[in-house]
Amino acid sequence: MRVENRSSCDKSYTGIDLFRLAAALLIITIHTSPLADLSDTADFILTRIAARVAVPFFFVTSGFFLISRYHDQTAKLWAFVKKTALIYAAAAVLYLPVNLYNGYFKMENLLPNLIKDIVFDGTLYHLWYLPASVIGGVVAWGLVKKLDYKKATAAAAALYLVGLFGDSYYGWIGEIPACSGLYALIFQVSDYTRNGIFFAPLFFVMGGFIADHNKTMYRQFRSGETASAERASGKAVFAGCFVLMLALMLVEGLTLHHFQVQRHDSMYVFLPPCVYFLFLMLLQFRGKRYVWMRDVSLVIYLIHPMMIVVIRMFAKVLHLQDLLVDNSVVHFLAVTGMSAAFSMLAVALWGRFGRRAKKLDTDTDRAYIEIDLANLEHNVEVLKKAMQPKCELMAVVKADAYGHGMCEVAVHLDRIGVRAYAVATVDEGIRLRRCGVRGEILILGYTAPERAGEIRRYDLAQTLIDHAYACRLNEQGQRIKVHVKIDTGMHRLGFDPFHIEEILCVFAMERFDVRGIYTHLCAADSLEEEDVCFTRQQIADFYGVLKRLKKEGMRIPKIHIQSSYGLLNYPELKCSYVRAGIALYGVLSTPDAQTRLQLDLRPVLSLKAKVVLIRFVPQGESVGYGRTFVAERDSVIAILPIGYADGFPRSLSGSGSYALIGGSWAPVIGRICMDQLAVDVTDIADVEVGMTATLIGYDGGGQIDAPMVAKDSGSITNELFSRMGSRLGRV
Ligand SMILES: *Cc1c(COP(=O)(O)O)cnc(C)c1O
Repeated sequence: MRVENRSSCDKSYTGIDLFRLAAALLIITIHTSPLADLSDTADFILTRIAARVAVPFFFVTSGFFLISRYHDQTAKLWAFVKKTALIYAAAAVLYLPVNLYNGYFKMENLLPNLIKDIVFDGTLYHLWYLPASVIGGVVAWGLVKKLDYKKATAAAAALYLVGLFGDSYYGWIGEIPACSGLYALIFQVSDYTRNGIFFAPLFFVMGGFIADHNKTMYRQFRSGETASAERASGKAVFAGCFVLMLALMLVEGLTLHHFQVQRHDSMYVFLPPCVYFLFLMLLQFRGKRYVWMRDVSLVIYLIHPMMIVVIRMFAKVLHLQDLLVDNSVVHFLAVTGMSAAFSMLAVALWGRFGRRAKKLDTDTDRAYIEIDLANLEHNVEVLKKAMQPKCELMAVVKADAYGHGMCEVAVHLDRIGVRAYAVATVDEGIRLRRCGVRGEILILGYTAPERAGEIRRYDLAQTLIDHAYACRLNEQGQRIKVHVKIDTGMHRLGFDPFHIEEILCVFAMERFDVRGIYTHLCAADSLEEEDVCFTRQQIADFYGVLKRLKKEGMRIPKIHIQSSYGLLNYPELKCSYVRAGIALYGVLSTPDAQTRLQLDLRPVLSLKAKVVLIRFVPQGESVGYGRTFVAERDSVIAILPIGYADGFPRSLSGSGSYALIGGSWAPVIGRICMDQLAVDVTDIADVEVGMTATLIGYDGGGQIDAPMVAKDSGSITNELFSRMGSRLGRV
């Protein structure tokens, strides 16, 4: 049941993955100066100016994946800090022999210098990057959490400015007495200003900013409607800006070099904009994933100084110094080749032996929900294919993603490129943001107008459920995104399609940024002639509204009509979004559903429980509350620790439902309790305590379908799922 081809997912950052390798090579050039033999100027341009984009690129990348104003999972920050610190510790140990050889430990004032090196300068020349990542990450995180992006950027830029004056511009600034005192102080604690305090934070903030504004940035450069067309134009614009900034940085660097003002040459005025546009450009390259590239580039970065040492020793022994060390180009190629070969080998070996496949930790769970993210991903692709071109998927993740776990599901969807979500309540929307989900989030239901501030703060979009509500919300004085809902016959929420003045009035409300207009179909699941007629009328009424709006000169925002069944039965509708819920989770509401479109959807959820007791029940004895089950023969029963409080409906009692144990069918007997139920295992050999019973899902050749279970309980899959899991863990 694994999905073979996942490469078509939109959100694989191919450009970033590939540039990691290029950046690692640029760092090698800084430490080997390949062009030194040819021309000093060429060498300066390459290693002291151009290659300076490499380290900030890594900072921006870390910030991109780490920092967001939407979530406050400090656990994520600590995981980053811990991982980076561990790598740093390992690298420091690795290079201890080099430190020993250099006589590092013989220096005066060893302890203060050691602390200074560990915290700022790195225990070997290239390692400063790791503590700078930790400090920069923490500082940027704090800034973005405490301030908005504007202020956080201003603060980080101010730090950068201090750094800049102590770096490339020190020759001028250092002469001012007031400044020289300050910098003398700084240089006591850190050899350079390009460290975690003055250098890194700006780039981390930049990464977070780009991540949070990614979508809107495309839009500024949108020429066509499709994402790929947007990206194509984005590519050209960003590449142009990058080249311009790089050129300006070259001029800046050469000028400073000419006047010999540089104390060090890591920081330039044009470096941040240059890296900014470089990163935006790289973001536009999507496609295949190269996750291994991340590890390879990291190892290259860590190991190349070691390779420099090895090559020097090697050259000495073989008397090849002229070629391998003194020829700068060959030296560079040798270091690069050896570092790359070593890194790939190391990463391959690590992947083979180091990382054992994670075992699901289900041994100690009494009962649990199993989520198959590969199937979720498969469903996303199948649905996207079924949709009209230019239509986007809006993943409906209300009610804890139909019991599947909102955070887990949405974070995965976010990773594979789903950019729009729908929830039922404002609290669900906030939760979604806190899990780190970016993109559009639409609240489908009512939100108290008093909570408009939260809608704005978390960048949610509110459904306007009627005219009076719109007015009350508008009065809150918050600028928020809204979608206008039209009631075309469900008579639940929405504007009357024939009161066009009321709808126009909303478009004119200043505080609202009208992002969408939509309706909901109430009989789209049926193919009965009468229902189809009704649905077609609903659709016609909705388009009638759009036509009137157009006539009044309104710009039509995103439109959406279909939910899962809407797509399956009316796939020809041209919309901006499909709001898919139940189909995303790979099932339909009922087992006998007829739909025009038949898609290969795969169930995402399985429900499992452990056998905790096996007991013998003599003929004539009863089992459970109300003594509804009486053994007709001497029986063996198994107790499963799952009940209706876990979402397994009590109404299934006596309906002929089953559990699968070891691939065999075990009938559920007696009444289902709040926390337990019993199954008859008389006819199943070798049932043991600790075996796993499947209540929904596959086991062996058997399969229990959720829609079937839902029907037996007198409901539909949607309800079954949404009641599940308030108490269950998920794996
Ligand atoms: C729940 C909901 C959906 C999703 O419905 P499915 O049938 O699960 O796809 C779509 N639109 C609205 C307005 C909803 O409330």
